[in-house]
Amino acid sequence: MLLEVGVRLCSCDRNRLSGFHLKTRWNEIKRVLSRDETETNRWDNIIYLINGIREKVEHNDYYDPSIKDLEKVRKKALEFTSWVTATAKSYYHKSGGFSLLQSFHYRLFEYKNKAKWKLEEYGEKPQIATGYRDDFENVTYRNLPDIIEQTEERLRETKTLKDITKNDIELLIGLVEFIAEFDCREQIAISNAICPKCGGKITETNQYIGGGYEEPPSDVYYRIGCEKCDYILHDETFSI
Ligand SMILES: [Zn+2]
Repeated sequence: MLLEVGVRLCSCDRNRLSGFHLKTRWNEIKRVLSRDETETNRWDNIIYLINGIREKVEHNDYYDPSIKDLEKVRKKALEFTSWVTATAKSYYHKSGGFSLLQSFHYRLFEYKNKAKWKLEEYGEKPQIATGYRDDFENVTYRNLPDIIEQTEERLRETKTLKDITKNDIELLIGLVEFIAEFDCREQIAISNAICPKCGGKITETNQYIGGGYEEPPSDVYYRIGCEKCDYILHDETFSI
């Protein structure tokens, strides 16, 4: 359901969205809906709970979700479904009527945030940014902090269509091209089990937690991530 809401009503990319597990999928849709709906965070707990139950069931044949949790999910599911459908529909209608200036602002804001998240996730010098193509209308990984600052300034300054200059259009195009190239490199690295952050190897590990001399361990920490650095594709702890 979330996939269809994301693709049909929130303009998310189907291939990208369908590759995500539930939690990330919700976070993507939430980002879009948060543009004009402030209460999106109130659904986090229930989505994360469903996500947790699903993952535990998937990795552990003997896992029994608690009845209390399942009842909580059943109770909230209908309410969530009608809320997310109604909110996404309202966003869709509004976005169809966006003026040129609003569309421009939304896009610039969206891509500025994407650039910000890349910086937060990858730090100053990630492996995939080395030897980066340098011709996205002056947008390069190295100058992202300046670009972000400049974009924030332009978002404040452009109040009417007349305020938008050729440079602003180039800034938006540069950011869009930069993010597309970066996402593509990220996917290539991950599909080759190479860490996009440091170039290390991505591996799957299980670490047993708890227990003692005579006691068996109580939990397993499951992680898919880089051997060398803190880059994590997916991790979770489940009881055994
Ligand atoms: Zn790494």
